[in-house]
Amino acid sequence: MLKLQGIAVSPGVAIGEALVMDNEGFRIPRRFVTRDTVVDELERLDKAIAASASEISRHRDAVALELGEQYAAIFEAHLQMLQSVRLRSELEEMIAQRHYSPEYAVSRTLRRYAQVFQKLESSNLAERATDIFDIEKRLLRHLLGHRREGIAHLSSPVLVLAHNLTPSETSNLDRHFVRGFVTEIGGLGSHTAIVAEALEIPAVVGTGPFLAEVSGGELAIIDGDKGLVILQPDEETLARYRHEAEELRSMAAKLEPLKDLPAETLDGLRVQILGNIEFPYEVEHCIDRGADGVGLYRTEFLYLGSETEPTEEVHFEAYMQVVKAMGDRPVTIRTFDMGADKIPHGPAPDESRNPFLGLRSIRLALRNLPLFRTQLRAALRASASGNLQIMFPLVSTLLELRQAKMVLADVMEDLEEHGVPFNRDVPIGMMVEVPAAVMMLDHFAEEVDFLSIGTNDLIQYTLAVDRSNKDVVQLYNAADPAVLKLIIMAIETAGRKNVPINMCGQMSGNPTYTMLLLGLGLTRFSVAPSSIPEIKNVIRRVTLERCKAVAAKALSMENAREIKSYLNEELKKNMPGAVQ
Ligand code: PEP
Ligand code: MG
Repeated sequence: MLKLQGIAVSPGVAIGEALVMDNEGFRIPRRFVTRDTVVDELERLDKAIAASASEISRHRDAVALELGEQYAAIFEAHLQMLQSVRLRSELEEMIAQRHYSPEYAVSRTLRRYAQVFQKLESSNLAERATDIFDIEKRLLRHLLGHRREGIAHLSSPVLVLAHNLTPSETSNLDRHFVRGFVTEIGGLGSHTAIVAEALEIPAVVGTGPFLAEVSGGELAIIDGDKGLVILQPDEETLARYRHEAEELRSMAAKLEPLKDLPAETLDGLRVQILGNIEFPYEVEHCIDRGADGVGLYRTEFLYLGSETEPTEEVHFEAYMQVVKAMGDRPVTIRTFDMGADKIPHGPAPDESRNPFLGLRSIRLALRNLPLFRTQLRAALRASASGNLQIMFPLVSTLLELRQAKMVLADVMEDLEEHGVPFNRDVPIGMMVEVPAAVMMLDHFAEEVDFLSIGTNDLIQYTLAVDRSNKDVVQLYNAADPAVLKLIIMAIETAGRKNVPINMCGQMSGNPTYTMLLLGLGLTRFSVAPSSIPEIKNVIRRVTLERCKAVAAKALSMENAREIKSYLNEELKKNMPGAVQ
């Protein structure tokens, strides 16, 4: 049994077979073969070894010709490892005696070899593990051949264990069969985490390297509440987690009747709870939980989940699906927020260039007007059929907001000219997720119909902490007094200016902060659909008066740790058993 501590990003417990994805996206589909196919499987292994060997020899010869023998030596070493008698006999034993599939045997054995190198003190030698992974990949490529599949098409339930999953990969996960996922990198606010919430599956990120120690098909447990991953669990651990998973299911069932009850405090303050969605199908999750509307539709996932750029019709159909399902409840279309860690099909962001401070979000939209206009046209067309509102992300200057509104006005004119129906009075709002926007909010408030605080970004820009970097996760804290001051400022300014303000960052879906936020005057919470019952439950059990007292006390404290533990204590007092 091996236990790994990572960062909990999506709650729940998942137990199942591991699907290991390396950088090349290999998956090892099967663990066992039947007794009567052993001979065929050994033959398949031999063929894969022979094909790999001839491939390596070709590389060796080419490099020797171009650069000389000494550079070709690396391939010679690979060849020796690949053809070693010891490796062949270990693999044979696993297939013939223990009936493991050749893929599984190759992966298990070579990863064990790699571990020996990785544990060596000398970093030069430790790097040799890469050579072994190289051999593993080569053999797997030959073994899997055309049967190599991505994670978009699965045929049985799995837990995905990967080094990293890009937002595009996560949005293409087969949601019927992926029951949870773990990544070696990633932080609390990463978009990988957000997709896990959308899929309503447990997820842990930022565990650090562990893929060398696990093979596809092995049993694993993901504890998305504690951020734990357990590989090859023993019977006792397995039984404990099975019990826990059952309890979680019954707790969720207990909260179900809340669906039809209002989110209202004991002393009569009516609060709006809206849903955050990334995919149109999630509108059903919102309806199932009795959401008052969609407070944030992250439309960039339309781009991330597709091979080609979405057409106006693709946008339109997605928006219509949500708008129609929501009836007269509001649907907030956030215009695409790409860049930083959300790159469709492009190369991974270059971390050294501070992608979060670069050309992302509304900045990108204003530099790619055809792309932006296509989306706006579709959103406006959908506005004729329901209660749709448009929201711009990452606005940091008034000029930016005005430019975005000008583009929108221009698109409206165009539609009008062509007689295409839309809502001329479509409410226009902006995200408040950059400290500069909070500082200038009295001006912004004059020019928008609504505001929405995006704490995921507000925290990272206030505290100078990358939201997706596991190494600084301790510093990424919603309870930091500096963040709280900005939130207060935003809520107060919006109140003074009489502009509705919502919060759609993950902070609003975390019950730890519900009393505090109510006490600060927030009355609109936009959260992942799965968090709606829990947040509503807290709201219905507290008084506004008590929340104000809690907020006042929290604000008298000077560090995040103290504030967070105080808030959890208060939550526990009011809601026994609700603290995560
Ligand atoms: C936020 O920043 O809080 C937010 C809701 O937007 P995203 O997480 O998509 O950046
Ligand atoms: Mg944001």
